[in-house]
Amino acid sequence: MMEDLDKLKDYLALPREIVIVSHRNPDGDAIGSSLGLSLYLQRKRHNTKIIFPSEFPDVFNYLPESDYVLIHDNEPDTCDVFLQKAEIIFCLDFNALDRIDKLGTKIHNLNAIKVMIDHHIDPEPFADFMLSETSASSTSELVYEFISMLGDEKMLDPVIGECLYTGIITDTGSFKFGTSARLFQIVAALKAVGVDDVKLQDYIFNSMSIKNIKLLAHCLHNRMELMEEYGVGFIVLNKYDFQNFDIQRGDTEGIVNYLLMVKKIKLAALITQQPNIIKFSMRSKGDISVQEITRDHFKGGGHKNASGGSFHGSLKAAIDKFKSVIPEYLPKVE
Ligand code: 5GP
Ligand code: MN
Repeated sequence: MMEDLDKLKDYLALPREIVIVSHRNPDGDAIGSSLGLSLYLQRKRHNTKIIFPSEFPDVFNYLPESDYVLIHDNEPDTCDVFLQKAEIIFCLDFNALDRIDKLGTKIHNLNAIKVMIDHHIDPEPFADFMLSETSASSTSELVYEFISMLGDEKMLDPVIGECLYTGIITDTGSFKFGTSARLFQIVAALKAVGVDDVKLQDYIFNSMSIKNIKLLAHCLHNRMELMEEYGVGFIVLNKYDFQNFDIQRGDTEGIVNYLLMVKKIKLAALITQQPNIIKFSMRSKGDISVQEITRDHFKGGGHKNASGGSFHGSLKAAIDKFKSVIPEYLPKVE
């Protein structure tokens, strides 16, 4: 067991074989935190390899060394080579090994030291060292804190900074939620070392394909349903939508947020019919906790205002269940 930071710091004083893993369907924070940590550790003369369970969206290809990331779904044997020789495994932006499926089972069975850096609610204590802070905006913010705790803030440069900044702006929706005074200090420090934040905003948010903007229009025009008396809006995408719009992984990212732009809507959901499950993606405002709803009813979790979960059964049964649990959590509005 590695209970304290000093022990980890001592362990990292020698060059180590390190694997960094993050969650399935990696988002900007998963990718940004992993690459940022990896580049930092490389500068400390460690060997690093990043492994994701599944592929990440092309929009993040601008990030340095993103082309060296291994995808477990595509190359499990190559991943095994790196996992077997790893002395330390960093687990970033997820809080339980079952969130990363087969890769999690493999990691569970390895003797390597495990370090968790994460900001999700209810972490499972599987790691030897945990930097778990639910009040943090993003795992990328916590990677900055980790570097700082090791006394290496001076090693930050525009390249590491771009990675961490990417995670911060994606997980905060460009500083719309999850912010704190500390976050703005970190962001100021990243800008001071030369991060081009305007360029990053453009890369990330002005990168939609025609196909995806048409899918967004379809969702809002044809697939939006309202429970106005509860201030709830949701979008349902069925398997035919997936075929007609050729929806691939990552294409539905961000759509759920549009519902929260409606003044009266306090809770938004995107309900998608996947091949074997119905997937829920929920967002809320203020004190309404979608973490509780997904935890209690949809085998999921995440953050208070951004959570996900799943349902086994028909699409109709999933929608009915969603509608039936809403009154437990939201009061009727006039
Ligand atoms: P998204 O809705 O963007 O897929 O996910 C929002 C947040 O909820 C993310 O932090 C993600 O890790 C978490 N999340 C999404 N789906 C699940 C799930 O099925 N189980 C759990 N525990 N968390 C989830
Ligand atoms: Mn995150």
